[in-house]
Amino acid sequence: MPLRVGRFTLHEIRDCSFATDGGTLFGPVPRREWGKAYPPDEENRIALMSRCLLVDSGERKILVDTGLGDKMSLEEQRSWQVDRSQFDLDRELVRAGTSREAITDVVLTHLHCEHSGGTTRRRPDGGTELAFPNATFHLQRRQFRWAHHPTERDASSFRLEDFAKLEQSGRLHLCEGETELFEGIEVCVTEGHTVGQQLLHIGGEGVEVLCAGDLLPTAGHLKLAAQMASDLYPLTGLEEKKMLLAEAVETGTIVFLPHETRFAACRLRENEGGVEAGEIVSF
Ligand SMILES: [Zn+2]
Repeated sequence: MPLRVGRFTLHEIRDCSFATDGGTLFGPVPRREWGKAYPPDEENRIALMSRCLLVDSGERKILVDTGLGDKMSLEEQRSWQVDRSQFDLDRELVRAGTSREAITDVVLTHLHCEHSGGTTRRRPDGGTELAFPNATFHLQRRQFRWAHHPTERDASSFRLEDFAKLEQSGRLHLCEGETELFEGIEVCVTEGHTVGQQLLHIGGEGVEVLCAGDLLPTAGHLKLAAQMASDLYPLTGLEEKKMLLAEAVETGTIVFLPHETRFAACRLRENEGGVEAGEIVSF
């Protein structure tokens, strides 16, 4: 069942399952702590979900992030353990009663390839094209600039072919910091994971949903110390996470988790050391 938030209907849109190194994902937290909830394989990889969020207001169909996309080589897909046997973005859009052509807006939290890879797709002639032909794409200007000039530390997270078509399309809206993107949808900006990652607060009629991108990729990251080893500014990210989690607990906000395999979203409850997943919200 989709989730009603004021005038919006929300659907989880699953792109694929994939795997990544557990140590990279949980940073300073030792494997003995995360390994029970996220059992690693013999190469220390854990299974993750690539999940986008569809926010449907009737007149607008807004997709938050675009998943890994179809441009990886077979070798890369094997290495990432990409699996679309059970679901993929197209089938999920149909399940939600829509299609790529009907998407009016794509909001990209950031341009790491697990979040923006599906922004473009492969054409039969080998080139690429925008994968949502009628959408306007919304992204923070500072993230767009950063993605073109990353450091050695994060260069492998960005693939130019995922976003190079955006600028020339005339359909790229570069946001400048915090803003109300649409009535009932506000974006705010965080810096810890990458420069200018934008988060969405979706609200209405007493229900609030937070889509925090890779600041909160899984329920395991509700633990404060759990931060990706690839985060650019971990202490900044820690402060951002503390503030967002405190707000979310106080307001009963539903937190959307783009890479959690077990469920799409949850409310939070406090425990001795911080917060953890409380009521599970499936949609
Ligand atoms: Zn990321």
